[in-house]
Amino acid sequence: MDDLGLSRRHFLAAAGATAALGLARPLATLGEDLRAADSFILTPLPYPVEALEPAIDRETMTIHHGKHHAGYVANLNKAVAGTPHARKKIEELLTTLAELPAEIQGQVRNNGGGHHNHMLFWTGMKGGGGGEPTGKLADAIKSTFAGFDAFKTAFAEKAMKQFGSGWAWLVAREGKLELMSLPNQDSPLTIGATPILGLDVWEHAYYLKYQNRRADYVNAWWSVVDWTTVGSRFGS
Ligand code: MN
Repeated sequence: MDDLGLSRRHFLAAAGATAALGLARPLATLGEDLRAADSFILTPLPYPVEALEPAIDRETMTIHHGKHHAGYVANLNKAVAGTPHARKKIEELLTTLAELPAEIQGQVRNNGGGHHNHMLFWTGMKGGGGGEPTGKLADAIKSTFAGFDAFKTAFAEKAMKQFGSGWAWLVAREGKLELMSLPNQDSPLTIGATPILGLDVWEHAYYLKYQNRRADYVNAWWSVVDWTTVGSRFGS
């Protein structure tokens, strides 16, 4: 079988899983929490694994989604199994992290954060993306950062300066945009911010194709950002 056939079958399998869950849309385009009654599930990719090439290659997507993201979901489920927290929305767990029992807090921070961050990441990209946002998000970026190019430069700087594993984020707090980087899988939700756009700068997100050239990955990634979905997170 050729590679394309394999990834088509993978995509169809994901679509089948989506149908089995009774969803009207092929995927949670806003990154909302798709889940079973008492466990979290690995959200299917909204496109085939090669869809983001050349910016992100199929091998990276296959391992990143099928192994890394899947691992976060499995470990999150293990941590909350048999507790009332297994029935909560992931957003609620991350927003109220400090109130969770100490024995599961670290697992939810890392694996719950990993699950939610990656859902946002997958749904915030598409093949043939790029360009610029429109509407409310475009206006807010222009007034906050002195223009879209200045925003991109400042966001890329957050991505480059995150030491070790973590994410660069554009978030909203009380309706205002802010840039930040957070270590590991820490979620903006835990510090009272709403994630709008996130870039995974863990080495697993780019090392197969870019090796140590994080700047090239960040630069290429702009070409697959889905500004329609990202903008909808800010009411555009
Ligand atoms: Mn990742």
